[in-house]
Amino acid sequence: MAPSANLAALRDAVRDIPDFPKPGIVFKDITPLLASPPLFKATLDLMEARWRPERIAKVVGIESRGFLFAAPLADRLGAGLVIARKPGKLPYQTLSEEYALEYGVDTLHLHADAILPGERILVVDDVIATGGTAGAVGRLSVRTGGVLVGYSFLIELGFLEGAARLNGTPHHAVLAY
Ligand code: AMP
Repeated sequence: MAPSANLAALRDAVRDIPDFPKPGIVFKDITPLLASPPLFKATLDLMEARWRPERIAKVVGIESRGFLFAAPLADRLGAGLVIARKPGKLPYQTLSEEYALEYGVDTLHLHADAILPGERILVVDDVIATGGTAGAVGRLSVRTGGVLVGYSFLIELGFLEGAARLNGTPHHAVLAY
């Protein structure tokens, strides 16, 4: 497939679900894309092409849909996989960061020894909306001593201006809305 045909097919495989999980949210349902072997592969090809020159040492996936892309991407980049998890899930010593939700706050944790000082870090999630989640994981990566190289997303909801929360760190999204 030509790259433009790829992108159109990928876009068609993301389903809008209005008012999920609550009224006013248009949820981007990526399960049709995940279920298609050529489309999932095309997604990973695009992510890999963007980040391969950056010599990434660790890919940090954000619970839970970020894991779906972070794990195969880490394998393709020859990088280690690190998981950013919700409270109470990681068994060893952790670092944590809070981030703002529409109402209230949430927290994500990393194992304190998951990233070595100086390691080049890529943070991965399925969707960037307000940018609070990804920004918090970026801060965690820096606190562990890593060098935050970039953020990789399948989807950027540009109208929410989440990139403004990424502190000028480069980001890439396969699909922009
Ligand atoms: P945010 O912190 O606002 O950038 O939200 C990003 C997180 O919420 C990601 O982990 C996404 O999986 C999820 N998310 C936010 N908005 C949507 C949406 N419209 N459709 C699907 N997932 C979303």
